[in-house]
Amino acid sequence: MKKTVLVSGGAGFIGSHVTVELTQAGYDVVIADNMSNCDETNYKGVCAILGRQLPFEKIDFCDSAAVEALFSRYTIDAVIHFAAYKAVGESVDEPLMYYKNNLDSFLNVLEAARKHGTHVLFSSSATVYGEPEKTPVTEESPRQEATSPYGNTKQMCEDFLRDCVKAYGMHGIALRYFNPIGAHPSALIGELPRGVPNNLVPFITQTAIGKRECLSIFGNDYPTPDGTCLRDYIDIVDLARAHVCAVTRMIEERMDKPYEIFNIGTGRPLSVLELVTSFEKVNNLKLNYRIAPRRPGDVVAIWADPTLANEKLGWKATRTIEETLASAWAWEKHLAGRA
Ligand code: UDP
Repeated sequence: MKKTVLVSGGAGFIGSHVTVELTQAGYDVVIADNMSNCDETNYKGVCAILGRQLPFEKIDFCDSAAVEALFSRYTIDAVIHFAAYKAVGESVDEPLMYYKNNLDSFLNVLEAARKHGTHVLFSSSATVYGEPEKTPVTEESPRQEATSPYGNTKQMCEDFLRDCVKAYGMHGIALRYFNPIGAHPSALIGELPRGVPNNLVPFITQTAIGKRECLSIFGNDYPTPDGTCLRDYIDIVDLARAHVCAVTRMIEERMDKPYEIFNIGTGRPLSVLELVTSFEKVNNLKLNYRIAPRRPGDVVAIWADPTLANEKLGWKATRTIEETLASAWAWEKHLAGRA
């Protein structure tokens, strides 16, 4: 019997890629989204890639009755929870909005999952490590106090899941993503930032296409080899595949313990300048950029030790940074109708 996975926030950047990989791995997927932060582009792209319509439920996960009704309507074996606000700066200005939305929605998911015996996968973030004392970070590296309400919601949701697993005999996995970038090789789904992008790669592609005049590189006086920050950029399709491995591990009851955490990264640090140079080279173009002051709140250097995910999930990042940056550019061109 085919297993069914509910993907909350399934019309978003990560959710749409996960939906494709899950479906191609043989899962039935129910996409649920309130469309508050996206349009239908990715949903349509998912259906085009898969060659069929997927069940779509427009629901707000803060509505507990609607969440319960959804879990009653389908037999859901596992839920992957992406539905959340994700702009760090906005969360500093609007903490209540972030706490209400990101916490309420996950509590509703947990309540329904408890009642219906559903496995839970939570999309967490390397932001929980703050500025790490030692790199690369393992899952045992200490979490640091969050520097934004957004980061705090990631930590709190991890704790909600841990406590519910312990109290109610549920099973849960938290995946801590490093920096997800790129787009599906079909260029039919990808990242759709609203307004001015906060993240590096969408800013780069929008600058390259002419939507932005100039990329600002935030700081070149950091204590790193070239003075710019170091990150672990993980390809979106690789990241999506990690979710398939994690869901399968839960459903097939192969977990070592009922609550597990995995770093999802490549294990390779890349500087902002290296990434920019790589983007220029692989796509054969010149990017207009300048060095700007440091951005407040940026950590200097963080990258993953992905050994645990490699060994336990049987997952490994496979796409090269060149493939990933080519896919990001293909997606931007697709959006501009030029591909
Ligand atoms: N960055 C930059 N210019 C931008 C956006 C980001 O130089 O317009 C840098 C940022 O300072 C950080 C890296 O790119 O060192 C990754 O930032 P991003 O916001 O993509 O992810 P973060 O690691 O902050 O979650």
